[in-house]
Amino acid sequence: MDYQVSAKTQTALDEALKIAEIKKGVDFIKDDSQNTLKDQLELVVIPAPTFQEEERAKAVAEKFRKLGLEDVHIDGIGNAIGLYRGTGKGKPIVVEAHMDTVYPKDTVINPVIGDDGFVRCPGIADNTSGTAALMGIIRAFKETGIKLNGDIFFVGTVREEGMGGFGGIEYFLGEHKDIAACVCLDGVQVGKITYQATGMTTCMVNFYGIGGHAYGAFGKMANPLHAAARAVAKIADIQVPAVPKTTYCVSNFHAGNDAGVHAIVPQATIKINMRSNQMEPLLKMKAEIYKAIEDGCREETERWGKDTITYDIHEYFNVPAGSLGLNDPIVEAAYAITKFLGKEPSFNEGGPTDAAFPICNGIPAVCLGSGDVETNSHSAENERFPIDGMWRGPQAAFLLAILCSGIDGKVESIL
Ligand SMILES: [Zn+2]
Repeated sequence: MDYQVSAKTQTALDEALKIAEIKKGVDFIKDDSQNTLKDQLELVVIPAPTFQEEERAKAVAEKFRKLGLEDVHIDGIGNAIGLYRGTGKGKPIVVEAHMDTVYPKDTVINPVIGDDGFVRCPGIADNTSGTAALMGIIRAFKETGIKLNGDIFFVGTVREEGMGGFGGIEYFLGEHKDIAACVCLDGVQVGKITYQATGMTTCMVNFYGIGGHAYGAFGKMANPLHAAARAVAKIADIQVPAVPKTTYCVSNFHAGNDAGVHAIVPQATIKINMRSNQMEPLLKMKAEIYKAIEDGCREETERWGKDTITYDIHEYFNVPAGSLGLNDPIVEAAYAITKFLGKEPSFNEGGPTDAAFPICNGIPAVCLGSGDVETNSHSAENERFPIDGMWRGPQAAFLLAILCSGIDGKVESIL
């Protein structure tokens, strides 16, 4: 890749790596990785579907406490938080990983370590890997005694997946207005750097009519299911840019029931997900989709000229879009650190991660993989995590936290 890290950022990393404690911390994380794996295996069996993270949050907080973090607590939305005190010469930073998984509470979770060196079970990668990596990073700070200029908040967040809409990180940042940077761990591949925030709107649209008999009421009323279908057909034709990546999907279409196969339904419902890595195309697409809904209702109403199809839109959440520059110091530092760890860095095009909220709110943030190589996630049968090299994700986050905050008299903050 044709990408250049500025001399300033590269020098900051090179100088930091000359410091004995920092080198020791990096080596320690590797030597300690069996403990991190143990944390991972303990946490993964605690179910934590989005909105039901309480049990896992308690276990994460308990681990924070045992590792000696200060002010360990679970906040108002359910995030597990612990503080590693700095020297008070800088603003605090965050090192975080989301705790929730995409699997229902009754999913059987039985981690198995295979001969190929992979652990398999639902949630082992996304994101128990990131959550366990936090423990390895905390132990490295404890072991070396490194104190950064600012405090570090270690946070296990809730509500990252699915309908969570990044609610955990949003809540945390709402409560802590002075955060200087966020290092997020999600996904497994070290060096896969997410520096953009994919904006998103997910909504439900209800179409309403009178409803009646399929035969007897025909011609006397409009059909809300037909109005929904007209709207969906129009939505399907909407053109969006490839760059910045902009997408839409009608993800749910529901009306009627088996008993009503001979009925004009009184209501139809669709759900739509829209995303973009920039705000302007996201808003433009959203306006076109909402116009398609309006037009679908109007055309179905006019087709019969009797009753009026009405609709309402319920937006589940709106996540803003945004992007750091490729040469923002935190992005450059993540790249240079990956190279130092012997891996090839790459930039993710957008991607929904907890880094989204800080990025959109002007706080430098990147999301890094928490292990070594790319694996499957969000698939109960195939989710797996490579043990070999698992130290690289926490090593990267450890170094990035140091560069972001700085160490008084030794390492200057890159921010
Ligand atoms: Zn994840």
